Amino acid sequence: MRKYSFTTQEIIDTLSANGVKASAQRMAILRFLMENRVHPTVDEIFKALQPTNPTLSRTTVYNTLRLLAGAGIIKCIETGGDGARWDYSQHDHAHFLCTSCGHVTDVDYRISSPTFPLPPAGYTVQTADIIFRGTCPACTASKAC
Ligand SMILES: [Zn+2]
Ligand SMILES: [Zn+2]
Repeated sequence: MRKYSFTTQEIIDTLSANGVKASAQRMAILRFLMENRVHPTVDEIFKALQPTNPTLSRTTVYNTLRLLAGAGIIKCIETGGDGARWDYSQHDHAHFLCTSCGHVTDVDYRISSPTFPLPPAGYTVQTADIIFRGTCPACTASKAC
């Protein structure tokens, strides 16, 4: 997986470019999502950040994620079952949810592709949330004999 790293200034700039005031906790949560492209749940983010942010609460993480999503900085992926995943992404992409291990992988797609299903003329598309469900290569391999 590609490694990402951002400076404090880049985190502040990302927040302010989207009209969000920077705070230590907002920066910590956004940095985590920008640097860890693993589509974490609220719980995973909370557990990862709590040791270095002892005053952080699960509620703060959740509220911050909703704020960042509302500002268009991150996206909420409704995977059903074990709760929503959160994703920092600058390009549209679909997701593949492995129903066996729960891992979420990015899937590239082009909305301009002739085979892409689009609503009829007159409907303006703003976003598309596409989730494929099935078994990832690792889980498929572990089931093979
Ligand atoms: Zn899997
Ligand atoms: Zn993604």
